[in-house]
Amino acid sequence: MAKIKAWAAKAAKQKLEPCEYDPGPLNADDVEIVVENCGICHSDLSIIDNEWGISTYPAVPGHEVIGRVAAMGAGAQGLTIGQRVGVGWGAGSCMHCRECLSGNQNLCAENVPTIVGHQGGFADRMRAQWPWAIPIPDGLNAKDAGPLLCGGVTVFGPLHQFDVRPTDRVGVAVVG
Ligand SMILES: [Zn+2]
Ligand SMILES: [Zn+2]
Repeated sequence: MAKIKAWAAKAAKQKLEPCEYDPGPLNADDVEIVVENCGICHSDLSIIDNEWGISTYPAVPGHEVIGRVAAMGAGAQGLTIGQRVGVGWGAGSCMHCRECLSGNQNLCAENVPTIVGHQGGFADRMRAQWPWAIPIPDGLNAKDAGPLLCGGVTVFGPLHQFDVRPTDRVGVAVVG
């Protein structure tokens, strides 16, 4: 596989610089995605600056990724080459724990954050475990679709979880 061209912070609070990294052999469960567009979120800045003390360097931010599947590992399923997909905060999980098997894989103890210990979407390509590459309709504008994968789903998640109806009146408290 060719090297991946990316923008990376080499250490905390450093500017992003062009870099190349060798992604190694494609894991059986992973897909490789050619990035079409990637949004920016404040969590990217928090990781660049190591605000949470969990950053790994070089850090390639970008977790509002829209792109197309370019390669599939031998065990990857449910997607096809050329399919448009998006990757948000998570890029992998164990897929066999209670959380993973109940549709709460974002709560998996082995959840892999896309931009911590893993390289994100400020790049020409990136990788994710196949269940974390979410099919995105071709008709959706990539710039609009990207933020749905982080900020968008953060707002939509609780409305869905608590079965909020279109006629309900709600209040939204924002922290941070
Ligand atoms: Zn985010
Ligand atoms: Zn799991």
